[in-house]
Amino acid sequence: MRSNILFKSATLVSLDPPEVERGDLRVASGAITDRAALLDPVEGEEVIDLGGKLLMPGMVCAHTHLYSALARGMPAPPRSPSSFREILELVWWRLDRALDEETIFWSAMAGAIDAVRAGTTCLFDHHASPSWITGSLQAVREALDRVGLRGVLCYEVTDRGGNHQRDLGVEENRSFLKWSKDSPSFRGMVGAHAGFTLSDESLEMCADLMKEHGAGLHIHAAEDMCDVEDAREKYSKGVVERLARAGALNNRTILAHGTHLDRGEIEAARAAAAWFAHNPRSNMNNEVGYAPVADFGERVLLGTDGIGADMFEEARVAFFKARDEGAGLGAEDWLRALANNQRLATELFGVETGRLSPGAAADLIVLAYDSPTPVTSGNLAWHLAFGLTSASVESVIIGGRFIIKDRSPLIDADEIYARAREASEKLWKKLA
Ligand SMILES: [Zn+2]
Repeated sequence: MRSNILFKSATLVSLDPPEVERGDLRVASGAITDRAALLDPVEGEEVIDLGGKLLMPGMVCAHTHLYSALARGMPAPPRSPSSFREILELVWWRLDRALDEETIFWSAMAGAIDAVRAGTTCLFDHHASPSWITGSLQAVREALDRVGLRGVLCYEVTDRGGNHQRDLGVEENRSFLKWSKDSPSFRGMVGAHAGFTLSDESLEMCADLMKEHGAGLHIHAAEDMCDVEDAREKYSKGVVERLARAGALNNRTILAHGTHLDRGEIEAARAAAAWFAHNPRSNMNNEVGYAPVADFGERVLLGTDGIGADMFEEARVAFFKARDEGAGLGAEDWLRALANNQRLATELFGVETGRLSPGAAADLIVLAYDSPTPVTSGNLAWHLAFGLTSASVESVIIGGRFIIKDRSPLIDADEIYARAREASEKLWKKLA
């Protein structure tokens, strides 16, 4: 149920430009309606005194795969992968082929619970389930809806299962784009796996669908050198060059990873105002290398690539990894990346999700962050790097509805985990 709420004595925080200010905030009908140093309660609203706790816009994850939420602890592959391509073939493509409607749903439920517990209120998901394509995005949507999350969904089109599966993937994107057009909580994108599993014809099909719906492409780009080499060897082009030629680059496009894009390719993507989703934990885990994040400029997003949806953790790892690499990036850069995730969500939903101002969505998190030092607009980035964690998340509100209140989820998270464990066992048996 949507509540009318007056938050009193909050520390109001937004990320970019960093802003930390003491004040009151009013929420009604799913949106922020008032903000001031002091607001008086009106009839019918719940008054919550935050006593200085942080109140900030919910986190957005710009690249994830909910279908991998049941992969934690799954049986080891038949042999140890010796390359990125083998990681896909022996781990992820075996897993996604084993998914059916039930396991897609419980995987998404488990991932959604993990996301809200970490203070993430919107996910950009990149879904694959080649044995169950048609209707898969609605199964993911149903799960996010039950938990109460916002989602930007797509199905990853690929040639790896042949033309029939590719066409079903394109259609799945098309029907979700149509369905979600006016949804308050969901949007679609055109999903595509990666250039090295897509012919020019397939990329053009994606580009046509983008034009049909004014949508962005969500694709892995140069995550590993194998993508770059494939584009060079088969097409004598760069990864981004192929997308540009196909007409598949626009200002809503997400290029996930971009690890091995060269300067020229990055410039071309930036000229088209495409976004780069950096996924530092995934890159380290897959040993694909460090992405040239500083070259991505103002267009950096942050994703988890399926390793949960804890954006505090991802941002902290991003900060330390960039330091380790001597990338010339500071703590403020990761505040900006997190804010960029909110900016892209704002653009797609047509409602502000990154500011605490009247008219913005009431997608909010309350953090009981106990710091021995003051938190100010000037030092917020350093609290993100060295102090703030999702363990401080106390309450989560999405569209004016409490999803978690005082650390208690309003849905039965224990029951969802129990069902997810059952689904995991079923899924893992199929892998054996
Ligand atoms: Zn990914």
